[in-house]
Amino acid sequence: MSATAITQHAILRWIEHYAAVIKSQRDYLTELDAAIGDADHGANMDRGFQAVAAKLPAMSELDISAVFKAIAMTLISTIGGASGPLYGTIFLQAAQTCSGKSELSLADWTALWESAIAGVVKRGKAELNDKTMLDALFPALQALKIASSANADIATALRLAAEAAEAGMQATAPLIARKGRASYLGERSRGHIDPGAVSAYLLLQSAALVLAGD
Ligand code: ADP
Ligand code: MG
Repeated sequence: MSATAITQHAILRWIEHYAAVIKSQRDYLTELDAAIGDADHGANMDRGFQAVAAKLPAMSELDISAVFKAIAMTLISTIGGASGPLYGTIFLQAAQTCSGKSELSLADWTALWESAIAGVVKRGKAELNDKTMLDALFPALQALKIASSANADIATALRLAAEAAEAGMQATAPLIARKGRASYLGERSRGHIDPGAVSAYLLLQSAALVLAGD
């Protein structure tokens, strides 16, 4: 049952699943953002991914790269706040890396995240331990690289990436925020998990749950 590649169909199901997860975690994300930001991360992500979910049926004939591009454009045009352009960048970079590919190997998936994260860094100028979504994404990428070079199967790699993202997300709690709105709080940002690290972890967790079983 272990897949050797991630198909276009699997990508659509991943995003559909993530949109549902974001809807169910909307209040939690808002609560986290209320503690160190402006209490809109849940609403922002839900607005963006419900708009994406509504367009998924119309994407069924698109190739993987075009699907990612359509997702990016929808997120950029519907999410206000920092997370819109940043999640938009993730999917725009994904579109670029997947150009011409009809399915993704583990190496492709790893390259996708490498480029997505580089895009977020370039756009937001944050580094590891700045208490942002990158603190979930960097460890996930590291796990993917290790799994990829060990020739792990995709299901295992995605699970390890999700676990690494979860640990990275948890580890944002003691950090002082250095980027985004939470950075205005300085010391007072300590003791709270970063909302964007949670939404980023959930994206990788959705991938592990959905893509692996295809
Ligand atoms: P806003 O901060 O504009 O209200 P959101 O609340 O939707 O936007 O998103 C906040 C999240 O965005 C933060 O929790 C953090 O993870 C992420 N974020 C903010 N600034 C940056 C940045 N420069 N680089 C990476 N991620 C960032
Ligand atoms: Mg906010």
